[in-house]
Amino acid sequence: MTTNPPNLRPDLAPAARMPEMPRSNQPTIGMVSLGCPKALVDSERILTRLRAEGYGISPDYSGADAVIVNTCGFLDSAKAESLDAIGEALVENGKVIVTGCLGAEPDYIREHHPRIMAVTGPHQYEQVLDAVHKAVPPDPDPFVDLLPASSVQLTPRHYSYLKISEGCNHKCKFCIIPDMRGKLASRPAHAVLREAEKLVDNGVRELLVISQDTSAYGLDRKYDVNPWKDREVRSHITDLARELGQLDAWVRLHYVYPYPHVRDLIPLMAGAGSNILPYMDIPFQHAHPDVLKRMARPAAAAKTLDEIAAWRATCPDITLRSTFIVGYPGETEAEFQTLLDWMDEAQLDRVGCFQYENVAGARSNDLPDHVPAEVKQDRWDRFMEKAQAISEAKLVAKVGQTIQVIVDEVDADAATCRTQADAPEIDGNLFIDEGFEDLKPGDIIPVEVDEAGEYDLWGKRL
Ligand code: SF4
Repeated sequence: MTTNPPNLRPDLAPAARMPEMPRSNQPTIGMVSLGCPKALVDSERILTRLRAEGYGISPDYSGADAVIVNTCGFLDSAKAESLDAIGEALVENGKVIVTGCLGAEPDYIREHHPRIMAVTGPHQYEQVLDAVHKAVPPDPDPFVDLLPASSVQLTPRHYSYLKISEGCNHKCKFCIIPDMRGKLASRPAHAVLREAEKLVDNGVRELLVISQDTSAYGLDRKYDVNPWKDREVRSHITDLARELGQLDAWVRLHYVYPYPHVRDLIPLMAGAGSNILPYMDIPFQHAHPDVLKRMARPAAAAKTLDEIAAWRATCPDITLRSTFIVGYPGETEAEFQTLLDWMDEAQLDRVGCFQYENVAGARSNDLPDHVPAEVKQDRWDRFMEKAQAISEAKLVAKVGQTIQVIVDEVDADAATCRTQADAPEIDGNLFIDEGFEDLKPGDIIPVEVDEAGEYDLWGKRL
């Protein structure tokens, strides 16, 4: 993990933005949220519940009566960071409740930090709340602590993650998420849509749809149908996306696996009258069929280059983002070369790459022929060189084009924006450094691109 760019580390999360200062004597909780966007959504849910019960949310350790640490346990490096965060919270505050993925290993945590007050696993919201009630009893003021109209968000107000399901039915050998988070459990479509609508009503201009396996959404519910407004909606990703695309916000799909029915999403991305962005985040992980088989990947036999060509035929502007693992056990030079050749053909817009790392409990640890560290590093360098060259060429091709951007931040020097091809936190930015002073976060404006860098663009307002 140490060789990955920081913005691709699943154990890094955006800093929490706390909504308001607590009233005096209000029982107050602090939150340290580590891990991926899915864990961030869990943190938001916990904070929303706590605030509805009358707790204040403290932006620092000193103002908190207790601290919740929402941990990541995906990789050894993420576990180490989680343990550090727990240690820091113990030193700075003393009353610490641990939850999240690493919470699935309570003995491991207690071995390092015996003084913690409670440990709960991922998405055990009720148990976290019980632990908080025990540590710091609630004391709501009925005149002040009304249920807030908007939920607590740890992302900036103009974009929000929207979690549609939890868990995963697959058993990729390098992954322990199904052990930690369980099997696929999808939310009913009308519940997702209600939340999405509320977020948009509260000013959210971009929804980031997340799950472990977005294309599988609804499979566990047997794609049941529920009433929504004057119609019925099936809990299937195509139907859900069609409805989400009607909202007044950009909708970005993450963690989509290339199952055949994904083809049905592409017309929504290409068509007028839908706000589903022409952007797909698909974790391919590798291109050689034998490596994919050894990984036990879903859709391992899919002819992904054909799929990509078909998607681009329907939606020429589609942006494809993916992540890959190099140096997976048994990966030969020829298999790696297949991946490089595949990249030449696939011409993906955005790419992240991880060097394979053993994760405690993962089945891939026992595979033969682990790749030496220096070979992994060499392959990572070669892969990233290619990916960067593709990304750069794609960005240069945008110079002169007029595109829509969403404003993320405005400071004294520039407005930091994103194009439809850029997801927050993981992709690049477009900067406007002239005539930006009246812009504000969440504005969506047309821009002419006038300069391209390795990952970022510059543009001027029209
Ligand atoms: S699809 Fe594979 S990598 Fe993704 S969460 Fe499921 S088991 Fe893990």
